[in-house]
Amino acid sequence: MKVEQVGVAGAGTMGAGVAQVAALGGLRVRLHDPDGAALVAGMERMRDGLRKGVARDRWSEADAEAAAGRVVEAPVLSDLAGCDAVIEASPEDLGLKRALFAALAEACGPRTILATNTSSLRVGDVAARVPHPERVCGMHFFNPPVLMRLVEVVAAEQSGPHALDAITELARAMGREPVRCTDSPGFVVNRCNRPFTLESLRILDEGGASHAQIDEVMRTDGGYRMGPFELMDLVGIDVNLKVARSFHRQRPLARWEPHPIQERMVAARQLGRKSGRGFYEYEKGSPRAPAPPLAGGATRREILERVVCALANEAAFAAGEGVAAPDEIDMAMRLGLNHPRGPFEWVRELGAQHMVTTLDGLRASHGGAQRYEVAPFLRELAG
Ligand code: NAD
Repeated sequence: MKVEQVGVAGAGTMGAGVAQVAALGGLRVRLHDPDGAALVAGMERMRDGLRKGVARDRWSEADAEAAAGRVVEAPVLSDLAGCDAVIEASPEDLGLKRALFAALAEACGPRTILATNTSSLRVGDVAARVPHPERVCGMHFFNPPVLMRLVEVVAAEQSGPHALDAITELARAMGREPVRCTDSPGFVVNRCNRPFTLESLRILDEGGASHAQIDEVMRTDGGYRMGPFELMDLVGIDVNLKVARSFHRQRPLARWEPHPIQERMVAARQLGRKSGRGFYEYEKGSPRAPAPPLAGGATRREILERVVCALANEAAFAAGEGVAAPDEIDMAMRLGLNHPRGPFEWVRELGAQHMVTTLDGLRASHGGAQRYEVAPFLRELAG
């Protein structure tokens, strides 16, 4: 089925951006929010985004005007009746989303495809009370939707091929790059990026290098736009820790265990940029001179390899579990996080056998630590 009319439920940060890219893709959009002020503000953000794109030469004024004309306000849920698909972008609360999905199913009828933009809930849980649950799947955008081209199309156990195909096509019509994945913790991107910060924290904790050294190596030698500690300071140590705890709650794996450094920093209210102090100190939002480097024992090569081997290992666990195909994981990490290379591209660069040897070596030098267990799929690649 080709989606021509799309509803967006929730006009906040994500909903307004999703409405904008849908309208730019030529779709007719109905934007809903039960909070009248939030709906007005969301419509204004959407129009403002369209104006900014004209100023930056991303699209013409005529295209922006035509797109704005395709979006209408939908103050009550029943205004979404007749939509071919609804993308839900309401607050990240399972109870709220479940109730909303049940209400959407009633308002829209059995044929409307329902997609959730949840980042951390199971799509299957959101769909639990929906009649005809085969029309439910995930459609996970990245912030800001207008700049981030990746969309993870998440297949819950209930999701039927009809819904997955329609949402994949819808993402393409919106000028996005869809990647199919299964309904598992963090989907592709948020899961496969866990080691970027966790392994870096371990290197820091062992005195291998200072946070500033690790950041510099990952930027200069790895090609990452930001080092892991700069990233944690930007996102917020508390936010990063909350995500880490959520992963570990869902699957208490040794390699997903939240790091005590983050626990201590959150207890001390060292939350990153927003509190003026995280790994770096900030004055008026910009970092002061970086902390003096420790005389750590790790070489540049060891720092880079520890982090990218851990990234590749997590991606190999995900691919081995069937979360997504290796090429799709690579594309997702490049488009969703601006990584310079996907994890399997790192495998090709360093060699699977070298990565296995590095991870086995780390396990041996850390008393057999389970967190360095090599993914069976990575061993398979090593042949
Ligand atoms: P937000 O708080 O900015 O917006 C949520 C909007 O939903 C608000 O305008 C609120 O009034 C509205 N709302 C409340 N109850 C509703 C209901 N019953 N029906 C419809 N709308 C309702 O939140 P956000 O950052 O836009 O996040 C929305 C969803 O997108 C969440 O599931 C979040 O996890 C996910 N997400 C967020 C980001 C991000 O970086 N912000 C990235 C990817 C995915």
